[in-house]
Amino acid sequence: MVSLITGDGIGPEISEAAVTLLDAVTEICGADIKIVPLKAGDAALAESGHALPQDTLDVIKRSDVCLKAPVGESAADVIIRLRLMMDLYANIRPAKSYRGLPALRDDIDMVIVRENTEDLYTGAEFETGDAAIALRIISRKGSARIARHAFETARLRNKQKLVTCVHKSNVMRVTDGIFAQECARVSQDYPDIRFEEMYVDACAMNMIRRPQKFDVIVTTNLFGDILSDESSQAAGGLGMAPGANIGDRFALFEPVHGAAFDIAGRGVANPASMILSAAMMLEWLAARHGDQKCADAADMLERAVQDVVSQGAKTLDVGGDMTTMQFTRRVASQLCAA
Ligand code: ATP
Repeated sequence: MVSLITGDGIGPEISEAAVTLLDAVTEICGADIKIVPLKAGDAALAESGHALPQDTLDVIKRSDVCLKAPVGESAADVIIRLRLMMDLYANIRPAKSYRGLPALRDDIDMVIVRENTEDLYTGAEFETGDAAIALRIISRKGSARIARHAFETARLRNKQKLVTCVHKSNVMRVTDGIFAQECARVSQDYPDIRFEEMYVDACAMNMIRRPQKFDVIVTTNLFGDILSDESSQAAGGLGMAPGANIGDRFALFEPVHGAAFDIAGRGVANPASMILSAAMMLEWLAARHGDQKCADAADMLERAVQDVVSQGAKTLDVGGDMTTMQFTRRVASQLCAA
């Protein structure tokens, strides 16, 4: 069973698109998927007083996987809680330029593997007198397990076989020192994968200067959050950017972007980020359950998006003129024609 958080802002619009295409592709491939829509976020908070209501949480815990649209102001109370509660320690954000997108280059194909449970995002901050203090928590265990995930990703992708460890250990000597040391230590177990280190400021520059040179980037939580918006933009825009939060027993898939209130309700949002997140979800389900039908569905869905975009079918944010539902129907036709 797939639990689906339909979210706020453009969330319900892009959720509808993803459900339409999930229904279509799973029927074509014979995969057995049941989707249960749930409330969480600003609307749930206004209605029930809780951004992540207990009944929503109960269904998520019983589900095999969660697909989540963006939520608004209460995002931290939903996604950060879920990441910590379910120990979804690996945040995976691919950035791939398809032909036809307004990308920096057409050969960008990288994945950011971001540590998802530590760093400045644990909420450990407080005021004292005139100042405010935030605690940056980086553990050896957390750094080693995200490093391992990055090397496994590089091996599975079988592209440049390169892991770039991004940090700022020349300034944050202790916390980023630990992170860099653990990544270097884990790299010894992967002699088939090249390993390099890069300071975060240099990485931000290289993301614009030579984005095609990256394969897998492994980094800490805050740096990964910022760099993945940049890599998404380099590859064609936030509207095309899917993401995953992976743990050892559960996973949650969601677009990189937020609720985009500036365009909500107009039916013009790009649903590709949510559709590609759904494709990543099918791929994860396929690997976890050895389900070839889910693997076929994942592959078909991603290829259909790629094909229609390269044929010029695009929403406003990436230089086209299609509405959310026009784009969705075009992907559906492509699925049926395949
Ligand atoms: P957050 O802080 O939650 O990440 P944000 O306010 O920084 O959110 P987003 O909601 O991510 O911003 O949106 C940033 C910009 O990108 C907005 O102008 C928005 O319209 C645009 N945008 C984001 N997602 C999409 C999409 N799926 N389709 C079209 N435009 C989008």
